[in-house]
Amino acid sequence: MRNIVILGSTGSIGKNALDIVDRNPDKLKVVGLAAGSNHEELARQVEKYRPTHVTLSDKTRLSTLKSTLSGSSVTVLEDTGFSNALEEISALPDTEVVLNAIVGVAGLRATASALVTGKIVALANKESMVAGGPILNALAEEHGGKIIPVDSEHSAIFQCLQAGKHDEIKRLVLTGSGGPFLDRVNLDDVPVSEALKHPNWNMGPKITIDSATMMNKGLEIIEAAYLFDLPAEKISVVIHPQSIVHSMVEFVDGAIIAQLSKPDMRLPIQNALLYPDRMPLDVCNLDLTEAISLEFRPPDMDKYISLKLAYRALNEGGISPTVLNAANEVAVKAFLDGRIKFTQICEIIRRTMDDLETGDIPDLNDVYRANMWAADVAEDFVYSYA
Ligand code: NDP
Ligand code: MG
Repeated sequence: MRNIVILGSTGSIGKNALDIVDRNPDKLKVVGLAAGSNHEELARQVEKYRPTHVTLSDKTRLSTLKSTLSGSSVTVLEDTGFSNALEEISALPDTEVVLNAIVGVAGLRATASALVTGKIVALANKESMVAGGPILNALAEEHGGKIIPVDSEHSAIFQCLQAGKHDEIKRLVLTGSGGPFLDRVNLDDVPVSEALKHPNWNMGPKITIDSATMMNKGLEIIEAAYLFDLPAEKISVVIHPQSIVHSMVEFVDGAIIAQLSKPDMRLPIQNALLYPDRMPLDVCNLDLTEAISLEFRPPDMDKYISLKLAYRALNEGGISPTVLNAANEVAVKAFLDGRIKFTQICEIIRRTMDDLETGDIPDLNDVYRANMWAADVAEDFVYSYA
């Protein structure tokens, strides 16, 4: 039996992860659950999965959760002057895997804490890796932690890499559906409701908007570079509207290895939670007795400046990816709140990157500082547009 902690358990990835727990009751035991604000759903999950520890980041709702759970044996962790509840729950003893499915850079402390205590981090929270990848890699190395990707493209690449050695990789090919606006020319006045309609995946609002701007693919370029220790020029993107080929690795001899399955996040989640084992999962089976068309085309780099910005951040290194991620979080929230236009999201990211000088990031505190700094600058741009 493997003890696991699920962070972001009330979200899209979190709920899919609990479905994987339901399918593997003799292999996975939930010992910790954490969420942002949805105390009612979290209380239901506590009732069903009986973890030893639980926490909620929203302080007011945490009080409500505490009263709901009073009398039960679960320990409700909260922030104090000396401790951070997300860090604490990610460091629980006798826990093998922490699934980080929190959205945004808010998940960074938890990823670091799990790695420092030598755990496997099943990483959906790509913003952790984008904001602090080199530091997280160093922490994993120093403390014996390991990151197993949950993001479907990186999970695919992780699997494809079994076919060759690191120095035999010619390039990684990240696939992307192109989102809801693949064939739309003018993106100036797209309403929030349309940007929230992803053609193939049902996901949380932030990543759905990231998919519409293609910044999701931009974040994934940076995530891949850090996860697989490869330079920007060895990472490419191809548009694949069917979302069946989840990504590919091309080796030096020209062989391209791909991973295919139905678009369903439960496969990469299960693979990470049960790593290195595989278990049956019928929901992801492709029916190859029926005709399937697979289409690939290059992305329009002029339309999706998000990809250019991601390559720029990766090539600049240092704080640039942190800045890009922070500005994106601020801009996406502003768009969802109706404060800016869709096309202003990437404009704000570019202007924030232009405004801030690049610099090295020696440790996590510098990441938090750079993140706050960039978020403030981006917020000023939002204000100037609104
Ligand atoms: P959702 O918005 O559906 O869920 C986010 C989860 O994070 C919720 O449980 C939310 O809690 C919790 N949360 C938010 N803020 C905090 C905080 N400050 N502290 C603790 N918990 C918090 O997002 P997704 O599940 O779609 O995405 C989660 C992560 O996984 C993102 O990084 C995304 O990029 C990545 N990912 C998602 C994919 C998908 O298919 N959904 C695919 C690949 C990657 P609450 O609801 O209670 O407020
Ligand atoms: Mg992805």
